[in-house]
Amino acid sequence: MDNDKPRLAIDMDEVLADTHYKFLTLFHRDFGIPMDLHQEPGKELHENLPEEINGQWELYVNEKGFFRDIPPMPYAIDTVKALSEKYNVYIVSAAMEFRNSLEDKFDWLGEYFPFIEWTNILFTGDKIISANILIDDRTRNLKNFNGRKLLFTSPHNLLFKEYERVNNWQEVAELLL
Ligand SMILES: [Mg+2]
Repeated sequence: MDNDKPRLAIDMDEVLADTHYKFLTLFHRDFGIPMDLHQEPGKELHENLPEEINGQWELYVNEKGFFRDIPPMPYAIDTVKALSEKYNVYIVSAAMEFRNSLEDKFDWLGEYFPFIEWTNILFTGDKIISANILIDDRTRNLKNFNGRKLLFTSPHNLLFKEYERVNNWQEVAELLL
C-alpha cells in the first residue's frame, strides 16, 4: 500500500461489472425477456419483470459461476488502471450477501483487474471503511461514508438527487484523473 496517495474505494456490481446485463441474459435465455427491457427509473431490474418470474433473480445470483463471466463496464479497466497511478485503489464489494460469489468475484478481478493486489480487495458486509472517495451505485453504502461520495448511475438509483453523480467511467476519468 502506498500511503502517500489518497484512498479510492470502488464497488463491483453495477460499477465495475455490468451485473444487470448478466441478469438480462439469463432472463432472456430462460423466459424470452428482451435484452432491451424497459427499466423504470427507481426500480430494481426484477421489479420490471412479470411477477411470476421476477423471484428467479435470487436463484440466479446464488448459483456458483454467476459472478464469474459478467462483462466489465465500458472503460472501467483502462480508467481504474490510470486511477491506480494517482490513488490507492480499493475494490470494496458487499460479497458476503452471496456466499457463492466470493471465489467468482476474486477470479473475475484477477482476470480483468490483475493490477489490483489482493491487499486492496475487500469483500465485506456493511462498507465500514475509511477512504477519501467511494464510488458506488447503492445509496445505502454511500449514506454513512465519511468521504466524497460518487453515485454511479444505475436505473435503480435515478431518482436520488442528493448525491454527486457519475454516469459512466469516462465521467469518472474526467472528474478524478
Ligand atoms: Mg453495486
